[in-house]
Amino acid sequence: MTEPLVPQYNPASIESQLYQWWTERGLFSPDSQAPGSDKPYVIMMPPPNVTAVLHMGHGLNNTIQDVLIRFERMRGRRALWLPGTDHAGIATQNVVERLLAQEGHTRFDLGRDAFVERVWAFVRETGSVILEQLKAIGSSADWARTYFTLDEGLSRAVREAFIRLYEEGLVYRGNYIINWCPRCLTALSNEEVEKEEVDGHLWHLKYPLADGSGHLTVATSRPETMLGDTAVAVHPDDERYRHLIGQEIQLPLVERRIPIVADPAVDPSFGSGAVKVTPAHDPADFEIGRRHALLSVDIMTPEARISLAAPERFQGLDRYDARRRVVAEFEAAGLLERTEDHRHAVGHCYRCGTVIEPRLSDQWFVRMEPLARPALQAYREGRLRFVPERRGDDYVAWLEGIRDWCISRQLWWGHRIPVWYCDAPECGLTSVSRSDLDACPGCGGPVRQDEDVLDTWFSSWLVPFSSLGWPNRTPDLATFYPGHTLVSAPDILFFWVARMIMAGLHFIGEVPYTDIYLHGVVRDTQHRRMSKSLGNGIDPLEVVERYGADALRYSLVSGMSVGTDVILDPNDLESSFAAGRNFSNKLWNAGRFILSNLAGPTRPLGGPNSGVVRRKELTLADRWIIARCNATVAEATEAYQRFRLNDAATAIYHFIWSDLADWYIEQVKPRLYGDMPGGDVARAVAAQTFDVALRLLHPIMPFITEALWRRFPGRPGDASISVAPWPAPDSRAVDSEALKEFGLVQELVSAIRTIRAEYGVQPGQVVRTVVAGDHGVTAAALKQERPTVMRLAKLSELSFGESRERVGGHAVLSDGTAVFVPLGEAIDVGRECSRLGSEVDRLARLVESQEKKLGNQQFVSRAPSDVVERERQKLTTWQEQREVLVKKRELLGCS
Ligand SMILES: [Zn+2]
Ligand SMILES: [Zn+2]
Repeated sequence: MTEPLVPQYNPASIESQLYQWWTERGLFSPDSQAPGSDKPYVIMMPPPNVTAVLHMGHGLNNTIQDVLIRFERMRGRRALWLPGTDHAGIATQNVVERLLAQEGHTRFDLGRDAFVERVWAFVRETGSVILEQLKAIGSSADWARTYFTLDEGLSRAVREAFIRLYEEGLVYRGNYIINWCPRCLTALSNEEVEKEEVDGHLWHLKYPLADGSGHLTVATSRPETMLGDTAVAVHPDDERYRHLIGQEIQLPLVERRIPIVADPAVDPSFGSGAVKVTPAHDPADFEIGRRHALLSVDIMTPEARISLAAPERFQGLDRYDARRRVVAEFEAAGLLERTEDHRHAVGHCYRCGTVIEPRLSDQWFVRMEPLARPALQAYREGRLRFVPERRGDDYVAWLEGIRDWCISRQLWWGHRIPVWYCDAPECGLTSVSRSDLDACPGCGGPVRQDEDVLDTWFSSWLVPFSSLGWPNRTPDLATFYPGHTLVSAPDILFFWVARMIMAGLHFIGEVPYTDIYLHGVVRDTQHRRMSKSLGNGIDPLEVVERYGADALRYSLVSGMSVGTDVILDPNDLESSFAAGRNFSNKLWNAGRFILSNLAGPTRPLGGPNSGVVRRKELTLADRWIIARCNATVAEATEAYQRFRLNDAATAIYHFIWSDLADWYIEQVKPRLYGDMPGGDVARAVAAQTFDVALRLLHPIMPFITEALWRRFPGRPGDASISVAPWPAPDSRAVDSEALKEFGLVQELVSAIRTIRAEYGVQPGQVVRTVVAGDHGVTAAALKQERPTVMRLAKLSELSFGESRERVGGHAVLSDGTAVFVPLGEAIDVGRECSRLGSEVDRLARLVESQEKKLGNQQFVSRAPSDVVERERQKLTTWQEQREVLVKKRELLGCS
C-alpha cells in the first residue's frame, strides 16, 4: 500500500474492498480452542427477522455492538459477536399469506406441508438479506457462526428445553383466557399485545331480576359479550345488593336464567357495583367463574364472529355488528339505561394491529414464577447490570408481577410442539418426545401430533447457548458461555432480554451476560419513531452510499448519549450526516499530510531501540501533543468501557480535528519542510500520535482508519488495525506543564485572530503584538513557540514589555497576561473610524425608534407580553452593541 492517497476521500472506493479483506483473513472469527489465555468477550446480536430489511433502528443497534466488539478485540480479548436470524413465526407467516392472497389463495388451500414448503422457499430466496446489509455498515460479526432459529441444531435445543420444562412440571397445558388475534388466528402472549387508548363507550344495561321485582344495572364496553354471560357478580360487603345474592337474573335477548353471586374481586365503585360475568371472554370473569363453578359459554368463532352458542339471529355476525344489534335490542326493549363516552386501553395484535379478543382456549403455558425468582436474585446480587441503571426497575417490576407464558401458537411456521396424543378411548396417553412418534408408546396405536407451533420467543430465549451447540457440550459453549454484553432497544426487554436471563440460569446455571445496554430509539425531528407506516424512515444503505459507512456510524454514535434517543431528519440527510462526512474528510487530509511526510526511517519515541527521541529534543508543542494524546487515550478508553460512546467520539474528534490537524500539524510544518531543525523529531511525534488517534477512532470509524493506518511506512502488508493493540495511557506522558503552557500559546493566537477579525484587518496583512511583562512562565512559553505564534497569527513581530502606542486592540489571557495588538499601521484607521462611526449611528437610530415604540403606552398595554418582552430585549442588545463600538472607536483614537 505505497501508492499515494487520493486527494479526495471516497468511501465507496475503499469500504467493501476492506470489508472483504477483513473477512478473508478471518479477523472476526475467534477460535474457541486456540491455545493461550485470551479472555473471551461475547455479544449476542439480537437476531433480526429472517425477512427483515435493514432500517435505522438496526443501524443504531448494530453500530453500537460493533463499536464495543471492535474495542474489546483490540484490547486483546477473544471477541465473538454472534449473528443469526429469527424465523419470526407470525411475521413471516403473515408475509407469505399476503403473497398467497394476491394469487387468490389462503394457506388452507395449500395445506400445512405445502404451505410450510412455500415459506421455506420464500425464506431461502429472500431471507438473510439483512445480514449482507449489516456488512455494508461494517459489522464485524462472526459470519462463519451465523445461525437460523429453525436450523436443525437450534430446533433440537427448542425441543430439549420444552421437554425438560415439561418433565419438571414447568410446562403445562391448560384451558385459560388467552389473547386471540382474529386476523392471525393465533394465541398471543401478554407481551405481544399492544395496549392503545381508544375512544369507546360504556353501555349501562338493565338486567331484570327473574322474580320480576326490579332490575340490576351492569356497565360494559363490549356489550356483545352479554350473549355469553353466565352470572352477575357483586361485592360481598356491598350493602346495596346483599339481599339479592343467590337470586337470579333473567338474561335479556338470550332468555337464560343466571345467578347473582358475591365475589371479592368486584369493585363496588365501578358503575353500579354490579358486573356482568362472561367467563369465556374476560380474564377477570374467568377467575370469578372458577370460584363459583359457573358455566363458560364461548360465543365467538376464531374469526370473532358470533358462534352457534348464541341465539340464532346473532349467529355469524361480526363482533362489531353484533355489538350494534345487542345495543339496539336493549334500547328497543327499554333496557338501555344510558350510554357514556369511555376512553380506555384496548389490546391490539403487535403484528397486524387487529383488536385482540380475550378468549377461552386450550393452550400450552410455561410456569414463570419459578424461573423469575433466580432471575430477580441475580439482579439483586449484582450479577446483572443495566445501562442506564433505571432500567433495572422495569426488569424487577415485570419479574415480580410475572404471569404464566402462553407459548402455543396456532400457526404453521415454527417449531411444532413435540407432543403426541393417542385417541384410543382405553388409552388416551399424551406423550412428549425428543424424537418424532408414529405409534403410541402406551398401546401401539396411532398418534397425532399437537397441531400448534411454539412462540418464536421460545426459541430466541435459548440463543445465548443454543447458538453455541447446546444441548451438546461443545468447545464453543465452554468458551463463549456466559457472554458479556447485550445491546438492545428497550422494547424487547421483556420479550427477549429478561427471558434469556431466565433460560440461561435455568438450563446452564449462569446468566448469559452481565451488562445490558438498552439504547434509545431513532426518531425524526418531530420525535416520532421512524417507521415504514409513517414513511419517515431513513435507509441506512442510502446514507452509506452518499456519505460512507463511517459517516453513518459517526453520526449515530455522536448523536446519542446513554438512555436518550437519536434524532435524525429524514427530509434532510445532509443535516444529519454531514458532520460524519466532514470529519472523514478532515481526517483524510490530515492523514495525507502526515503520511506524505513520513518518508524515511522514523525515530521511535520510546522503548529500547537505538535512536530513541530524547525528552530534551522535544519542543513545547511536541510535549503538548503527546500529553493531549495521552489524555485522550485515558478519556476515550474510559468512555468506551462505560458505554458512553458519544463521549468517546467527542474526545477523539476534538483531538484529531483541533489538537492534531488545526494546531500540531500547523505547528510542525516548517520543521517537516526543513525550514527549521528537528524534522526527525516532529516526524516521530506526528507518526506516533496519529497512529494512536487512528486506533482510538477505529471502533467508531473502522474503514477510513484502516485505510490510513495500513499506509504507514514499514507496516507489514497483512497488518490490520482491527487487531492492533489498544493504546495504553502512559503515566510518564502526563505533562500538565506542557498542557498549560501550550494552552497559553493557543489562547494568544486565538486572541490575536479575534482582534484581527473585529477590526477588519485584511487576511494577508501582518500585525505586531506586544505581550505585557518579560518574565515568568507565560513569557517563557510564548518565547519557545514564538515562530508558531508569529506564523499562525500572521505577526511581523512578537515583543515583550510595555507598549507606548495607544491605537489598537486589547485582550487578556486566562492567566491575566495583557496582550496589545497595535493597529495604527495595519489598518486604515481613518476608514475604520468612519466605518465604526456609521455603524454607531445606525445603532443609535435603531435604539431611538425602539425607545419610542416602547414608550407608546398603547403598544405596551395591548401587545402580548412576550412580544413586548422580545422588543425590550432587542433594545438592550442594540444598546450594548453600540457601547462596544463606541469603546472600540476610543481605542482607535477616532475623533
Ligand atoms: Zn394479528
Ligand atoms: Zn395409546
